[in-house]
This record gives sequence, structure tokens and C-alpha cells, in this order.
Amino acid sequence: MDFRLSEEQREFVNVVRKVCQKEFAPRAIKYLDGTWPAENMQRLAEIGVLGMAVPVAYGGSGLGILDTVLVLEEIGKVCYVTAMAVLGEVGVQCRIISTYAPESIKKKILPRVATGDAILAICMTEPNAGTDVPNYTTNTAVKGERVVVNGRKTLISRADLAEMFVVFTRVDSVPGAAGIGCVLVPGGVKGFVAEAKYHTMGGEYLCEVQFNDVELPLENLLIRDHGLKRLMSAFNTQRCLNPAICLGLAEGALEASLQYLRERPAFGHPIGDFQGLRWKAADMYIQIEAARGLLYRAAVSGEQFPDPTLAAMAKIYCNEMSIRVTSEAIQIHGGYGFTDEYAVSRFFRGTRYGSLGGGTTETLRNLVGKKLVEEMDLATGVLGMGMY
Ligand SMILES: Cc1cc2nc3c(=O)[nH]c(=O)nc-3n(C[C@H](O)[C@H](O)[C@H](O)COP(=O)(O)OP(=O)(O)OC[C@H]3O[C@@H](n4cnc5c(N)ncnc54)[C@H](O)[C@@H]3O)c2cc1C
Repeated sequence: MDFRLSEEQREFVNVVRKVCQKEFAPRAIKYLDGTWPAENMQRLAEIGVLGMAVPVAYGGSGLGILDTVLVLEEIGKVCYVTAMAVLGEVGVQCRIISTYAPESIKKKILPRVATGDAILAICMTEPNAGTDVPNYTTNTAVKGERVVVNGRKTLISRADLAEMFVVFTRVDSVPGAAGIGCVLVPGGVKGFVAEAKYHTMGGEYLCEVQFNDVELPLENLLIRDHGLKRLMSAFNTQRCLNPAICLGLAEGALEASLQYLRERPAFGHPIGDFQGLRWKAADMYIQIEAARGLLYRAAVSGEQFPDPTLAAMAKIYCNEMSIRVTSEAIQIHGGYGFTDEYAVSRFFRGTRYGSLGGGTTETLRNLVGKKLVEEMDLATGVLGMGMY
């Protein structure tokens, strides 16, 4: 097993790290009110980050999941809001378009994603069903060479800014999981409404989206039926990228804590002289490294998309670890840690997103538990689970 990153990966991460630490960290606080981090996105487009998931043929660099994890981790260390904005461009929606969209649509949208000129959104969650995908009610009716989309989605990131929406939809009212497919809806078409509605504790706004008789060419219907398996398989990408942000938030919190431990005096010493606080730092670091091992492994586990069980385990562990670690970072910072002035309070707030978006920790535990109880061969044990 080789845990070393390649020379190219190190170089790219170093470029991203410098930009994040020098330029993004000082202005991270200003995005807490929901301001879109436009200047950061422009800068990330310049250094090639926004084109990471765009294939080379469409102006991107077509990098793998691990490269994307490394970059999101660096951005997460300084700014949750920017990391979430980047996730929208390098995550599942871009990979679904790159994999399943017809040539004409790919040519139109993907080069604009790489340059930062087009923002993408994904619409899964509905007012009455989030986790419960088989009960989505948004419907796409096929009418000859056209399709007509009707329905409502909620808690959607960037929907007030996005140019293209990857929409999970029922097709032709076929009930249950078998009826779930995927349609691409360009923002601004007739019958499309998006409204920023909820300000989150992480900083960004989430939107309500309506499709009222939105009429589109048939080619926009990317996946027609029995699409849930293919869509969920692509979604395993998100299950590595969401935890990358959490890993970054935890690392950012540890680094800020180490600085504070060295600088903050109490009883005539830096507080880092207290053994109890050193143990906190050690425990934070141990958990970060354990999470990193699981996540990087999940990121390189699949041919096209990551292994679902590894991705689920990595996501659960990183999500929960980041809440514990950032909370300890606040404790180390004392009362200042609870204020907006110190990055650790922002990091803590950001981590609460992790276990909600991209598959909740409860449903992912269902997935891992099912694999263990129903599918694991007791004769070969865990080593026979196909993960090594
Ligand atoms: C910051 C942020 C950004 C988001 N961006 C997007 C976006 O861009 N696009 C999008 O589509 N959505 C987005 N979401 C929504 C997110 O994907 C949903 O909140 C999530 O899928 C959960 O759905 P829900 O909120 O409807 O909760 P529900 O599905 O109603 O779940 C409520 C609770 O019940 C639990 N639960 C449900 N089913 C089971 C089960 N079978 N077993 C055990 N427990 C269960 C859940 O784990 C959860 O704890 C975003 C959310 C946040 C916080």
C-alpha cells in the first residue's frame, strides 16, 4: 500500500494552499452573511480548480476524486462557504453532466464551468422527501421530442445563481424507485422559479425551486428510468467530497488551536503547557489522521465512482470527527472561541452541514449495516468484503 501523494498532487495542493491561506483566510468572515464568494471563485478558476471535474476535451483537467478531495480539504481549512461553492462545480452535478449528458449540452456548459462562468446546482430534496428519494414527486412527462417538468425542490444550494440544474425526477409518473431519472434544466427557462429562502448557520443561503410546466428538448432527459442506481453510484463522489470539506474544517481548527496553545497565557505560562490541553490536541490530530486514511482510501477505491461502502464509512467518520474536533478547538480558545472573530466558531458551524447533506449519517449507517448483516460472507470475514 502506498500512501504517498504524487509530485504533481503535492505541487497542485501547494498552489491551492498558498492562495487559500494568503487570500481567502483574511476575508472568510465576510461570507457569513450569505455573500457569494465571487472573488474566490474567480481566483480558483484562474488556477484551474473549477475545471478539475471537467474532462480535458471540454477545457478542464479531468482530475480524479482524490485530487478533488485534496483541494476541497485545503479550501475547507480556511473558508467553509468557498469550499461549498466549489463543491457545486467539482462535485456530483458536474460528473453527472460529464458522464450522461449528450455532446451538444456538454459542449455548451462544461467549458463555462471550467472558467467559472457557469454555476451548477443539484436538485434532489423536496419539501416532503429528502432522504426518501423513491417518494420524490417532481415529475417529467415525455411528450414526443419534448419533456415537461413539474414539481418543487427545497434546500437547494446556489439555485439563485446557477445556470444549469441537475434534477432528480420521476419520469412519466412511474411510481417508486423504478421511476426515478434525471433531467437537466437550464436556469431562467419559462416556468422555472428559484428563490433564496433559508439563511444557514454555515453562512450560505439555500433556495426553493419550482418547475411549473417547464418544457425542454428530450435530450435534456439524461436518465429515463431505473436511474436510481446509476445516479446513486455517481452520488458516491459526493460522499467523498463532502467529508473532504469536513476534514479541512477539522484541520483548520487544529492548526488555529495549536497557534492559540502557544500564544495564550494563563497562570504565567502558555496554555499549551497544560497537559490536559496537549492531550486534547493529540486526540484531535489522531482523529484527523484516522479520518484522512479512510477518506483517501475511499477516494481511490472505484474505477469511475468510489466504492459505496467505503465512501459511506469515510463520510460518517469525517462528518462526526469534524464536529468533535472543532468543538474541542472552541474549548481550547475559551470564550473567544465562541465569537465570530475566531475562525474556530465558523469551522464548528460548517461541520454541522456534513452529516446532513450528501446522505445523512443515519441512512449511510443503514447502508453499511446492511452490507455487514446481509451480504458479508462470515467464512471470509471483513477482509473478504472486497475492499482490500
Ligand atoms: C447546507 C446544505 C446544503 C444543501 N444543498 C442541497 C442541494 O444543493 N441540493 C439538494 O437537493 N439538497 C440539498 N440539501 C438538502 C439535504 O440534502 C437534505 O437536507 C438531506 O438529504 C436530508 O433530507 P431532509 O432534510 O429532507 O431530512 P429527512 O429525509 O426528512 O430526514 C430527517 C431525519 O430522519 C432521518 N432518516 C430518514 N430516513 C431514515 C432511515 N431510513 N433510517 C434512519 N433515519 C432516517 C435522517 O437521517 C434525518 O436525521 C442541503 C442541505 C444543507 C444543510
